[in-house]
Amino acid sequence: MSRFFSPKYKNLKAYVPGEQPKDMKYIKLNTNESPFPPPQSVRDAIKDAADLLELYPDPTLSLLRAAASRIYDVAEDEVIFSNGSDEVLDYAFAAFCDENTPAVFPDISYGFYPVFANVNCVPSRVIPLKDDFTIDITEYFDAKGTIFIANPNAPTGIALPVADIEKILDANRDNVVVIDEAYVDFGAESAVPLIKKYDNLLVVQTVSKSRSMAGARLGFAFGCRELIRDLDTVRNSRNPYNVNRLTMAAGIASFEAETERMLSCLKIVSNREYTEKALSELGFEMTDSSANFIFVRHPKVSGEKLYLELRKCGILVRHFSVPRISDYNRITIGDMDQMKCLVDACREIIAEETK
Ligand SMILES: *Cc1c(COP(=O)(O)O)cnc(C)c1O
Repeated sequence: MSRFFSPKYKNLKAYVPGEQPKDMKYIKLNTNESPFPPPQSVRDAIKDAADLLELYPDPTLSLLRAAASRIYDVAEDEVIFSNGSDEVLDYAFAAFCDENTPAVFPDISYGFYPVFANVNCVPSRVIPLKDDFTIDITEYFDAKGTIFIANPNAPTGIALPVADIEKILDANRDNVVVIDEAYVDFGAESAVPLIKKYDNLLVVQTVSKSRSMAGARLGFAFGCRELIRDLDTVRNSRNPYNVNRLTMAAGIASFEAETERMLSCLKIVSNREYTEKALSELGFEMTDSSANFIFVRHPKVSGEKLYLELRKCGILVRHFSVPRISDYNRITIGDMDQMKCLVDACREIIAEETK
């Protein structure tokens, strides 16, 4: 730290993304990327957009908002785009939290929420999940802060029914409720239609997972037009060109390729079911995942040991050293070949460790 770093950041601990090592070729099951490339139409759109790189992109992103409005059945001023959904989440912490309005979120959830609270200098109130890692919705009633809930949750994959989200919304008419739907396309129900009914609801989505575009950095959020306007004020005060020309073109093409997205999600769900069954047969226990990852532990092998042994086999998964979940690993669902390699490696590791 230099002597010039603001004291307000003295205790700031930055978010640590999943590793992207270069020492060898790994089967990457650690950052919830898609194993499938985006549709050809997306790649073609980026090539075409590259012809105009000398010009700034449209700061109002009007074509992108029009495309999203068609697909998600919202008005064009009920959606905002960002450089990955991480950016719009950051804007929400900036816009809807302050010293008297803490950020309220579960203890086991997306690791970026506490970091966004810290970097925006707002307090947080952390609510533990129940022993089975589900959310006790009554703990969020009258939260006296801005609620952030990932649905499905990460890293557990557990989904909250939209009926429960609606109960939280009803019990928080004077608080903003942010539902982070990064994984919703893999089997949970979306809360987007509820933005018409609740002026306190913001729903965040991303092209990083179900649309195979983690490298493009594009996220978006839906809410009533006043909420979206607030976020847009923050965006225009920080970085009005937050979505570049290539990414905007890729986003429009992706919204025009709904069939491909659905087929790719169906493949992931079917590979998830295969992997859950195969790992259960090896004695693994897991949460009920509605996401493109599973959250597993083995009664005989520690989470860290499994992580390290899989790494030696060239397979990367995500292990969190947080005490409450240190027995677990989060494993991204890849293609069938990758899942078969994973299951074979797990079988050998379990046999070795339990003999
Ligand atoms: C991956 C993820 C995001 C953000 O992804 P971006 O790549 O920034 O769009 C947001 N929330 C959760 C829970 C995630 O897992």
